[in-house]
Amino acid sequence: MSKPPAPPSTSFGWDAAGRDQRARRFYKSKVWERTREAYIACRHGLCERCGAGGKVVHHKVRLTPQNINDPTVTLNFDNLELLCQECHNREHHERVPVADGLRFTADGDLIAVR
Ligand SMILES: [Zn+2]
Ligand SMILES: [Zn+2]
Repeated sequence: MSKPPAPPSTSFGWDAAGRDQRARRFYKSKVWERTREAYIACRHGLCERCGAGGKVVHHKVRLTPQNINDPTVTLNFDNLELLCQECHNREHHERVPVADGLRFTADGDLIAVR
């Protein structure tokens, strides 16, 4: 028996369940993986704010439904910042919500806040 098809999403892209499929796909994509690795190497693996071991490549301009497919935003070194987990948490906890009821988790996933 095959699985039943997924129910159609009520909104375009940024679904009501709160997790955007495109953003998730982006963060799992080969091109992001490569960009991320290259960026980390370019920053010598250090957090740009405190000098600790960098773990998260953060987008200065947050990813939105409008820019998720725009490589000048998503893959541009000028828009990236290597942060340790602590600095990344601070960045996101101090400036939520990101936009229009969206915020990032520490893993870089987008979630909807209500
Ligand atoms: Zn740091
Ligand atoms: Zn971030």
